[in-house]
Amino acid sequence: MQQPNIVFIMSDDHAAHAMSCYGSGINQTPNIDRIAQNGVLLDNCFCTNSICAPSRAVILTGKHTHLNGVRTLDDRFDGRQETVAKIMQRNNYQTAVFGKWHLGEGGHSSPTGFDEWVVLPGQGDYHDPLMLSPQGERVYEGYVTDIVTDLSLQWLEQRDKERPFMLMCHHKAPHRWWEPDEKHMHMYEDEDIPLPDTLHDDYSHRSEAAKRARMRISSDFMYRDLKLVPPAGYEGTDFIYVPQDLTGFSLCPVGGEPVTFTDQESVVEWLYQRYIKDYLRCVAAIDDNVGRILDYLEENNLAENTVVMYTSDQGFFLGDHGWYDKRFMYEESLRMPLVVQYPKEIPAGTSSDAMVLNLDFAQTFLDYAGLPAPEDMQGRSLRDVFRGQTVADWRTSMYYRYWMHLSHHNVAAHYGIRTQRYKLIYYYGESLNTSGSIDSATAPEWELFDLAADPQEMRNVYHEPEYAEARAALTSELERLKAEALDSE
Ligand code: CA
Repeated sequence: MQQPNIVFIMSDDHAAHAMSCYGSGINQTPNIDRIAQNGVLLDNCFCTNSICAPSRAVILTGKHTHLNGVRTLDDRFDGRQETVAKIMQRNNYQTAVFGKWHLGEGGHSSPTGFDEWVVLPGQGDYHDPLMLSPQGERVYEGYVTDIVTDLSLQWLEQRDKERPFMLMCHHKAPHRWWEPDEKHMHMYEDEDIPLPDTLHDDYSHRSEAAKRARMRISSDFMYRDLKLVPPAGYEGTDFIYVPQDLTGFSLCPVGGEPVTFTDQESVVEWLYQRYIKDYLRCVAAIDDNVGRILDYLEENNLAENTVVMYTSDQGFFLGDHGWYDKRFMYEESLRMPLVVQYPKEIPAGTSSDAMVLNLDFAQTFLDYAGLPAPEDMQGRSLRDVFRGQTVADWRTSMYYRYWMHLSHHNVAAHYGIRTQRYKLIYYYGESLNTSGSIDSATAPEWELFDLAADPQEMRNVYHEPEYAEARAALTSELERLKAEALDSE
């Protein structure tokens, strides 16, 4: 059997609802759509912990974050552990990773299992980024999304053409601070992007955790996020200040003219436009560069025998629920985009609603390579799902856990379960922590959403009597999943 090549393209914080193949109403992604047209689109791909470093560690190890050691952004990845890259490297594959690593660098956290790597330190910069490699560090002139692709294509060009390869092309974009390149800087200038339905969400009928989160478009952006000049008297401050009384108040873009407002809703909508346009401009550069990779594979007769996957480390709130950022188990943040082409095996233009996870990726790569997966990997190969086969005992529920209690953006730690119809979330507050006492701000609470009746998750039905039966069944299934995931905390 000829082992297929694998090209894994992953961006950072690119939500599925900003991809036209997922029905985005706000942008076009013609090149990412090409992958879907050539292969399969996954409607229900979810991450097990919606944040950058943990998702990356799950993808490399095929293990939940409590077992691979990267539960939070503060944990460094221990590269001495087994990863899919190491197994592929030991078994005839040429391996490389370029771009965002974000699992710590230096010592045991530098990439392992890769013949070649050039990665950004931490989040990295959009323009003229410093990058690290086994040879040391150097500044690359240009725009980061182009550079990551240039490095990928150069590596493909100089590889040993007799052996299969696994390329991990990891874009930094469209992560905060959303800095577009010159080519896309003026997109959307003379138009308004449609507002999300839930932009003015007031969090009634929801948990205290939702109300408490500090990721609101209305009050939690920094001047830097939206490229605004802090007004007189606010120089040196980070967060955009919007007074209740808007008389004499204005916001001023860098290099622009001050803008005044008549009411609070118009401020929020203006801030949303500033945010989403830069986000989508960064996405447009990714899409162009996905096209460059696909073109290269086609022009070099590699498309037929190469599995190409495009995904993002998690989803993102694009003004949904009045928010930016991620972390919550809510749909926009939980869902990962995933499109895959492999013409030899995957029928073109198909889709699947099977519930698949980032936890499954490692075993999927190994399956394509014809290699057995280690027993302690916790996912499942997606190969049969991708080729449209019905897998009789496929999962009908998934386990999620976010660990950073009231840390970044004041989001409470939580774990939960999602099924095709329901989502049950437990914000466990301080009850599971050994330090600190329980107070009202961190008391445990539950949320239950009926996704069939309420796909936007606007109404917590946990305490409603007609959901008592569903609640009991889900609570029991959640405990089973938690145990199965070997999460004993
Ligand atoms: Ca991310």
